[in-house]
Amino acid sequence: MPRVAPRALHARSALAAESVFSVMSRLAVQYGAVNLGQGFPAGSPPEFLLEALKTQAGAADQYTAPAGLPALREALAADLTTAAAVVRPEQVTVTCGATEAMHALADALYGTGTDGAGDEVLMFEPVFDIYRPQALLSGATPVLVGMTLTPEGWQPDLDGLERLVTPRTRALLVNNPHNPTGHVFTRAELERIVQLARQHDLWIIADEVYDELYFGEAPVPLRELAPERTFTVGSAGKRLEATGWRIGWIVSPAQVASQVTASQVIATQVTGLHQWATFCAPTPLQSAVAAALPIARQTGFYEDLRASYGARMRLLASGLRSLGLTVQQPGGSYFLTALAPGLDPWHLVEHGGLAVIPGSAFYAEGSAPDGLIRLAFCKPASEILRALERLESYLGR
Ligand code: GLN
Repeated sequence: MPRVAPRALHARSALAAESVFSVMSRLAVQYGAVNLGQGFPAGSPPEFLLEALKTQAGAADQYTAPAGLPALREALAADLTTAAAVVRPEQVTVTCGATEAMHALADALYGTGTDGAGDEVLMFEPVFDIYRPQALLSGATPVLVGMTLTPEGWQPDLDGLERLVTPRTRALLVNNPHNPTGHVFTRAELERIVQLARQHDLWIIADEVYDELYFGEAPVPLRELAPERTFTVGSAGKRLEATGWRIGWIVSPAQVASQVTASQVIATQVTGLHQWATFCAPTPLQSAVAAALPIARQTGFYEDLRASYGARMRLLASGLRSLGLTVQQPGGSYFLTALAPGLDPWHLVEHGGLAVIPGSAFYAEGSAPDGLIRLAFCKPASEILRALERLESYLGR
């Protein structure tokens, strides 16, 4: 038998645990549970996306450039440009999903200093499960900043954020709308974050995969507030209801013409490092997404999505409240959190036929609020009603 390298036995192998989302989905299948755990839409992607793929498979099947299919980089630049911030195709790198985008950024932006100590990366807790292992794999240290659960909902602890900046801090990671809480950072919160990043010269990584999924104020893209230092991550899977397609993107900071800036160097590295992982994302899927993005924009697809998710969110929230749970109403994403003190999601999936994600999956060991759970409402209303019935009979036993 080949020997496992000692390095793999320690730090890296400890990071190879199966993700809570795939464990819960597996248990949901095993126990025939309604799955409000892993966040993926239950239905098919829109017809215009599937039609686009039919014309592209067979026509665009070979490698494309690691930075992405030119047509997709152009479509994304057009789609993401706002009155406050122009995005140019050269700023876009297409990746295999937002997960690979975040990984490429971790690779390019941080690591271990010459003294052997890791860069520090600030991220809000509850924290989406990929951020910590990705930082650790790159040699950096994740530093968790609290989000406080108040009677009005979740609030990021921005004083805490300020206190946690050290000379080793290199980047600040903001997920907006935020998974798992559904919090949409206000403009004032984002401005304070940007001010801090400028004061300490930090990179900003803005994971904005739920950018089109909001129920009140639209989230402000961080690249509008800090174009010189923000890397934006986005996802066709989230926007176009096709999470298995694995088409994500990075928008690197705007480049200053005729001047080699740090952001320009890093932007080149991002594509260069992504190239060693996957070379390029699947070409026919990139091509189909390029065709679908303007259609989604022109046909009001995102408005329809928001209306339909908003209705399902309210159905789930009011159902949970009537069962006595405390619900934090989300401003965006397709998740909400609730407090059900004493409820054990591992027992619930096996004996109550309902899969939800335990809040502890998003916290450092032992620090999750008691009874915190996350539920996904990107499922048909009939599934949500079935989930509520199952929870009612489970709680009534
Ligand atoms: N983003 C999804 C969630 O939070 C799933 C992510 C995954 O399974 N890779 O449920």
